[in-house]
Amino acid sequence: MVHPFDELVFSGAVLDRQAHLRADPDALETLRRDPAARVLEAGGMAVAVERSGDGARLATRPVEPGDAGRDLALLGRLGPHLLLAALGGDGGTPLRQVADLLSPQEAGHAATAVALDNWHRTHPRCPRCGAQTELAQAGWVRHCPQDGSDHHPRTDPAVIMAVVDADDRLLLAQGAGWPQGRMSVLAGFVEPGETLAGAVAREVREEVGVDVVDVTYQADQPWPFPGSLMVGFTARATSAELTPDGSEIADARWFTRAELADAFERGELRRPAPVSISARLIEQWFGGPLTRPSDIGAVRAL
Ligand SMILES: [Zn+2]
Repeated sequence: MVHPFDELVFSGAVLDRQAHLRADPDALETLRRDPAARVLEAGGMAVAVERSGDGARLATRPVEPGDAGRDLALLGRLGPHLLLAALGGDGGTPLRQVADLLSPQEAGHAATAVALDNWHRTHPRCPRCGAQTELAQAGWVRHCPQDGSDHHPRTDPAVIMAVVDADDRLLLAQGAGWPQGRMSVLAGFVEPGETLAGAVAREVREEVGVDVVDVTYQADQPWPFPGSLMVGFTARATSAELTPDGSEIADARWFTRAELADAFERGELRRPAPVSISARLIEQWFGGPLTRPSDIGAVRAL
């Protein structure tokens, strides 16, 4: 069986970001004149993509005169080309819809482009003095000309955890405001001063009133909607009584594998989107894919 985390979207490639080029203040100007440089349109959680059959690839283009007045960011090397993101436009195709059709390298660069676009768009001013900041370091810094301070793109770490009880049942919860039939594993942002394992234990205790032990790292996934890093864990509950907090969590329950398969088949629960680490955490516990009824039937027959 393919390991559930082997092909986790946005996590499959170590990107060649060519970070050494960022220190050159003329890097972007040099790249604007480089006929071999390629540009990826990014904006609004979307990127330029061309579909072909069942697959998709990034639709990159040469540098155009119109790029002169736009914010560009150096994403790194993609095949033989240096790849730039043109920020602040309309990327075209929502990345969430096509991420699993792109190669791991292309998905990684696309996630980087979307995350950088989100950050530049929402951080136009200096947090110290309020002055308008300027793009620097080939798109990886915003510099304040007023007080000289540099500001770096932020990534917010979040934990996401598959919690099982003593009978190996899986905990799924419905977030407040979620539609009926949507449940997932618990997740939450890491707070200042907290370890990842500490955040797992706190979130589970706050949201459903259960203590956990054996918090074990499984995999992580950049999630640029708008700018998170999802760090996936398994954990074991020391008690089974669930008390949903009522504010963040509307409902929570334990599922056996047979109960979960039944809930999917009867349409009581929606199958999770395969692109996210939450789906992979559930599949790892389940012992097989959740995407097709025939697969669930096969697992149930075991
Ligand atoms: Zn400033």
